[in-house]
Amino acid sequence: MDTQQASARQLVDQFGRVHDYLRISVTDKCNLRCVYCMPAEGMQFEPEERHLTDEQIVEVVTVLAGLGVRKLRLTGGEPLVRRGLDRLIARLSAIAGIEDIALTTNGMFFAPQAERLREAGLTRLNISLDSLRPDRFSEITRGGDLAKVLASLEAAERTGYDPIKLNVVLMKGRNDEEIDDFLRMTVHRRLHIRFIEYMPIGHSDAGWKAGYVPLETVLDRCRAMGMAPEPAGDVYGNGPSRNYRLSGAAGSFGLIHPVSDHFCATCNRLRLTADGNVKPCLYWSDEWNVKPWLGDRSGLEELFFRAIGQKPETHEMAKVLTGEDASRLPTVRRMSQIGG
Ligand code: SAM
Ligand code: SF4
Repeated sequence: MDTQQASARQLVDQFGRVHDYLRISVTDKCNLRCVYCMPAEGMQFEPEERHLTDEQIVEVVTVLAGLGVRKLRLTGGEPLVRRGLDRLIARLSAIAGIEDIALTTNGMFFAPQAERLREAGLTRLNISLDSLRPDRFSEITRGGDLAKVLASLEAAERTGYDPIKLNVVLMKGRNDEEIDDFLRMTVHRRLHIRFIEYMPIGHSDAGWKAGYVPLETVLDRCRAMGMAPEPAGDVYGNGPSRNYRLSGAAGSFGLIHPVSDHFCATCNRLRLTADGNVKPCLYWSDEWNVKPWLGDRSGLEELFFRAIGQKPETHEMAKVLTGEDASRLPTVRRMSQIGG
């Protein structure tokens, strides 16, 4: 969709970006404590009664669908910790205008639900998988069981999800020596590995700087393995990823580099937190709560236009690397609270 075609009823910001994609955090809770996402202990979760109900999420999405939102991603926290996610998906997929519903999951609870979620209307799937070594996987996720996640991946392949994307957050000294193993996974399986730069969200500290790896490292590894990556275009749906394929491979891989080379100019995303805040940008603290406007369609529309109208041109994650001051207030929420 280009800006020229956008009608007044679409969510177009002051930089001409059309917003047709909503990421919904259905819970801030999680069964894991990944090192880049949450502290080991002491994480404060919202009481469940503050979470939007299914009914309220459906209402918000219905209004947004009327303003041109077409794609949804359910995330969290761990979305499969929320009871009855299949019922929510079925209701969301019945909303006029919604064309695509994706899920980002840590994969621990997915296998037994693979078919049910697909029947409910789930169209696309991302599984987070930061290591292929059981000990290291458990260390990064602080308690995750690699065997369960691999079983979920196989269940997803058997059930016919396509595309299946694997999210890999690269971290120095933790999993950056596994790049080759991840790349090899794409040779015979129709998987798309998304290498993601470690982002300084809600905890911009020295720990982040020490772990950050620029994603050009992946292309360097390919060359070192004697494999020239071929550009693969946007083979697997929308997104900001630069995609490649190893020659003759069934699958592909992509680089998502929000820090070293941001893709804000083409950002089409809005976020909705579990407690009902609309966030036009992942990075900044600006957010607007929908709860006072539930039951009032034009009030909700006003709120979304206000949020979009104040969306900044870009985030400033890279300034954390150089130590420069940010031009406004970065969020103190963690990724699990925003919906990564
Ligand atoms: N619990 C689900 C999962 O892990 O897939 C969904 C929520 S999680 C917050 C969504 C994605 O954000 C995951 O792929 C995770 O790896 C990524 N993520 C979390 N913190 C991050 C960070 N600081 N930098 C980059 N990606 C991050
Ligand atoms: Fe949980 Fe996902 Fe955050 Fe890991 S990345 S702690 S699985 S929400």
